[in-house]
Amino acid sequence: MDLKDLYRDVILDHNKHPRNFGRLDPCDTSADGNNPLCGDRLTLTLRLDGDRVSDIKFEGKGCAISTASASLMTEAIKGKDGVAIKHLSTLVHQALTAHGDDSLPPAELGKLAALAGVREYPARVKCASLCWHTLDAALKHRTNSLGETPTGPATVSTE
Ligand code: ZN
Repeated sequence: MDLKDLYRDVILDHNKHPRNFGRLDPCDTSADGNNPLCGDRLTLTLRLDGDRVSDIKFEGKGCAISTASASLMTEAIKGKDGVAIKHLSTLVHQALTAHGDDSLPPAELGKLAALAGVREYPARVKCASLCWHTLDAALKHRTNSLGETPTGPATVSTE
């Protein structure tokens, strides 16, 4: 089995059996993401312990790549703090946009490395990055509210 088969299997598995699917109620912050190019929509709900994401769930409807990416992301960031999440987010974006680069994604990406296969389909990069943009919006939304309960979800569109 070569690496591409492995990547595809991880994506298919997470699309068929999304991890952390659902909604946290109550939550400390949330955000809605929308990728009009493909029709992907997702809502993230998070519980925070200071700067650390203690729990996260996602729900919505989207293509296999957007669903698998959100599922992989929730698994990867749960329990991590803002600095670690930012670092991971940067690595994912590099892996997604490294056009014509055949080098292997860094080992610290873990299962998220499966998303590197998406770089061969530039039109789908937004499907894979939607959840990360939405996460960023949710975390900023919370920071901006100075710890107060957000009045409504942040929204982000990739357009
Ligand atoms: Zn999509």
